[in-house]
Amino acid sequence: MLEKVFDTLQGIIYNDLPKNSASKAVVYDRPIENWFIGERQIKPGNISITFSGSSSPLKDVTFGFQEFEHSINIEIDAGADNVDLSERIIQEATRLVLGSVRRHRRMWVLDVCPICTKFALSPQHYILDHNNILASYKASAISDFGTLWNQTHTNAAPSLPDSGLATEAFYRMYEDVRSGIAVTNLSDTAKRNILKMQRDYLEPIRMLYDVIPSSNEFSDNATGNQLYKTGKISITAKELIRLSDYGPDNVPTTAFKW
Ligand SMILES: [Zn+2]
Repeated sequence: MLEKVFDTLQGIIYNDLPKNSASKAVVYDRPIENWFIGERQIKPGNISITFSGSSSPLKDVTFGFQEFEHSINIEIDAGADNVDLSERIIQEATRLVLGSVRRHRRMWVLDVCPICTKFALSPQHYILDHNNILASYKASAISDFGTLWNQTHTNAAPSLPDSGLATEAFYRMYEDVRSGIAVTNLSDTAKRNILKMQRDYLEPIRMLYDVIPSSNEFSDNATGNQLYKTGKISITAKELIRLSDYGPDNVPTTAFKW
């Protein structure tokens, strides 16, 4: 559910934070040594970031569209051998993480690329790295948009954002694979990966919007944990998902319970 959202947040925060010469994200001079998903009781003493969440209620917003409301927790833990230092590190680490997530009010969330198995953070990956497969889909997406625009406008169509265009191009190719249409330059492995994603109901490119940090606990200031402190940021985010199958007649007559 939120697994790829956590991976995306990790990628974004890592990308936004300052790094040391070993390419680790740093808070002052201390590297963030661990990134965890799922809460746990025992954590290392050096700085770690844990992503967790447990509930994403959804509702119908209109016929054919449902909306998730995700709640995501980011916990930052750090220990030092001095009380003042522990407090300073946790405050600075929480401030840095908040500074990063505040900048991403809308966020692409991708699944692993079925063509090269990279975990990209922007759909532009598909155009930049797989242009030999997607160039024609991109061209037809631009052309179809222009045709649609011209039905109601006399001025020229504006250019589409690169990430949105890449998403449209990718989905056209993705649906061609589903329909059994041959896709030029797409390897058999990539095609098998796409068919598997479709069998698994995967959304290869998602978008979270209204990604809002709703709480900012920059320290758990308490006497019981003077040397090991925790900061917490809670995020709420919304996601629209299309519903293209409704039932009751989408169950094959050959299907039985046994
Ligand atoms: Zn790729």
